[in-house]
Amino acid sequence: MLKTLKDIDLKGKKVFVRVDFNVPVKDGVVTDDTRIREALKTIKYVTDNGGFATLATHLGRPKGEKNPKYTVKPVADHINGKGYFKAVFVDDCIGKSVTEAVNNQKQDTVLILENLRFYPDEEKNNPEFSKNLAAPFDVYINDAFGTSHRKHASVYGIPSVMQNKAAGFLLEKEALYFDRLLQAPEHPFSAVLGGAKVSDKIGVIESLLERADNILIGGAMAYTFLKYKGIGVGKSLVEEELLGTVEKVLKKAADKGVEIALPVDHIVSAEFGGAPEVCGVQDIPADRMGLDIGPKTIESYKKMLSKSKTILWNGPMGVFEQPAYAEGTFAIAKYAAELDATVVVGGGDSVAAVNQAGVSDKISHISTGGGASLEYLEYGSLPGIDILRG
Ligand code: AMP
Repeated sequence: MLKTLKDIDLKGKKVFVRVDFNVPVKDGVVTDDTRIREALKTIKYVTDNGGFATLATHLGRPKGEKNPKYTVKPVADHINGKGYFKAVFVDDCIGKSVTEAVNNQKQDTVLILENLRFYPDEEKNNPEFSKNLAAPFDVYINDAFGTSHRKHASVYGIPSVMQNKAAGFLLEKEALYFDRLLQAPEHPFSAVLGGAKVSDKIGVIESLLERADNILIGGAMAYTFLKYKGIGVGKSLVEEELLGTVEKVLKKAADKGVEIALPVDHIVSAEFGGAPEVCGVQDIPADRMGLDIGPKTIESYKKMLSKSKTILWNGPMGVFEQPAYAEGTFAIAKYAAELDATVVVGGGDSVAAVNQAGVSDKISHISTGGGASLEYLEYGSLPGIDILRG
């Protein structure tokens, strides 16, 4: 069982909350605070229940060095500017300044520690560093799903040495949906996979072959499958070195009775960014490249999804960043959102796609972690979540 916030007595406790405030900062100003707003429920719960909250995050890639470019201070300023809560910035994440700030903390304030990744020990999961991070606190909460696939000190090291630990609300929701998807999905279970590369998703495909009833493939990864089948792919993106892997996947799918659906038509162009044309047949001419699934494929994928009770979607159906090649992705997003099914969307690009399609509020669960959601599906759990299971 995953311990959650509600299982912990927070009254009077000093609570370390690992958040994901890795937000975009430009010229010292936070330009998108979605991740901050998403964590407010957990933070508010800690303070409302008498806990003294201290937040810790990484920001950018300072590569283990103190670098003012990646300071967390603008995040604290932003929070105070918006009035989300009273934030007090602490200019380190371990040591004297943290101990003093925690000891003098008022209950209506929330401390925000400096960037964890200013220390190389964070990513190395150095046990001494973990002990130093944990020292001032009674309770550990992880609400940073996006880094929970990493065995870092703040995600894995601290909960290894602290008894009183639990998942925050964001992490709890992610675990709930992914565990259900992996362990007891309602059937038919369809997976829609797209994006640039088969190689990035091979572990996920393997895992889904054990669980899903059908896998609908789009995006550039479809062309490696089509090429293996001897179908013309023209100048489309193909991973030649994965043709052998595709062969194994297709064989395993046939053995397991999992249907792998591939595009039957395409939106093509002579070049990346060129004028879009419908290619009404499965074979793409030698001088064209496939950049989106075509209208017949959209209809056949919709038909397959119409029967599904569970849908996992990872990766766009085409180069959706360009409106000329976005129709396939948006059509699938809008259709999936209307179905009476549990729909889980994972991965940065698919999340952007459901947001742009304007249907995010109709999706059962939108994962906050790209790499983390892929690893969850591949390995069945994540180190940062496993360490909180009692
Ligand atoms: P991923 O991060 O693997 O989910 O890949 C997402 C990227 O795949 C997006 O930037 C898309 O533009 C790209 N993509 C999707 N379909 C195609 C395609 N047919 N050709 C080239 N790139 C594609």
